[in-house]
Amino acid sequence: MNTTIAMPLIKEGETFRFVREERQLPPPAADEVRLRVTNCGVCGSDISRWKGGAYHYPIVIGHEFAGVVEYDPRGELDGRLTAVFPILPCHECEPCKNELYAMCAHYDYYGSRRDGAFATHLNVKRDNLILLSEGVDSESAAMCEPTAVALHALRRPRTVEGKRVAVYGAGTIGLLLLRTAKLLGAAETYCFDPDPDKLASALKNGALPLDDNASPDIFIDACGKSAALIDMLRRAKPRAEIVLLGNPSGDVLLAKADYWQILRRELTLYGTWNSQHGVSRSDWRDVLDYMADGRLAVRDMITHRFPLEQAEDALSTLASGKACKVMLKMEEV
Ligand SMILES: [Zn+2]
Ligand SMILES: [Zn+2]
Repeated sequence: MNTTIAMPLIKEGETFRFVREERQLPPPAADEVRLRVTNCGVCGSDISRWKGGAYHYPIVIGHEFAGVVEYDPRGELDGRLTAVFPILPCHECEPCKNELYAMCAHYDYYGSRRDGAFATHLNVKRDNLILLSEGVDSESAAMCEPTAVALHALRRPRTVEGKRVAVYGAGTIGLLLLRTAKLLGAAETYCFDPDPDKLASALKNGALPLDDNASPDIFIDACGKSAALIDMLRRAKPRAEIVLLGNPSGDVLLAKADYWQILRRELTLYGTWNSQHGVSRSDWRDVLDYMADGRLAVRDMITHRFPLEQAEDALSTLASGKACKVMLKMEEV
C-alpha cells in the first residue's frame, strides 16, 4: 500500500468544497502503473463539477494531467514522464472498434466518472499513457488534453490549409485553436470575444478582429453561446463550414430566417467531441510531436499556478474569467 494526498470535492447540503485527504492507494493492477502527478490543468468543465454538476460526490476531479511513472509492475516505464489520455473506453462497442473512444457507449473517465488527478498519486492504465519525447516539459504535457481537443476540432472540416478560420471565444481553447490553425496552414485567423483583454491576447496570437471585412471559410465556436452560432450563420458564405465545440451555456435556439441559411448556403455543421487517441490516429501524439520540435508552444498560456492544497483558489481564479490556463503544480520536473 502506498499513500496519496487527494483533494476530493465533497457535497455538504447544497454546497460543494474540496477537502484534503490522505488516502491509501492500492498497488497498481497488472495493466496499470502508479503515477506521481506533477501537474494538473484546471478546465472550464471543472467549474461545473465544482458547482454541483459532477456525476457523483465525493469525486477527485482533474483530467488534464501529466506525471512521472513511479512504479510499473512490469518494470519497464519507471521514471518516465508521461501525459495521460483521460478516457477509459470499453473496447467492446462499435465506436471503440473504430478507435473513436470519446464516443464509447460505456466509457469511464479520470477526473469525471472516476477519481482524477487533483492528487499527488494515481494508478492509471498503461494504455492511457502517452510517454513524452525529449524536449517536452511536464507543464506542456499537462496541456496536451486541451491542445488535442483543439487539434481534433480543426480536423473536422475538410481542410484548414489555405482557409480563413474564425474562432469565437478567446479562452484557452480559443487561443489553442488559433495557434493550431496557423500550424495547419490556415491562411488567416480571426477572433471574436466580447472581453477586450481576451480579444487582445487573440490578436497577439496573430488573429485579426472578426469585423465586416472578414470572410471566413470556417467558423469554430469555442464559447457555446446561441448568439455565436447565429452570428456565424448570418456571416457564412455559401458552402462555409461551422465547427461546434463550446459546451452550451443554455438552450441554443434559431430563428427560421437563420435556419434557412444552413439550407440556402449549403453550410456544413460539425460537432466535435473531446479528442482521438488510437493506433490509427492520435491527436495526442501529433500534439506532442508539435511540442517536441518547437512548432507549438503552449506553456506561456499558463497564467496562474497553485499548489494542490489550493484547489479552491485555482477554481475561483478560473471562474473569475480573468485567467487563461490555471494549473495545479505538485512537483517541478
Ligand atoms: Zn478539459
Ligand atoms: Zn466502447
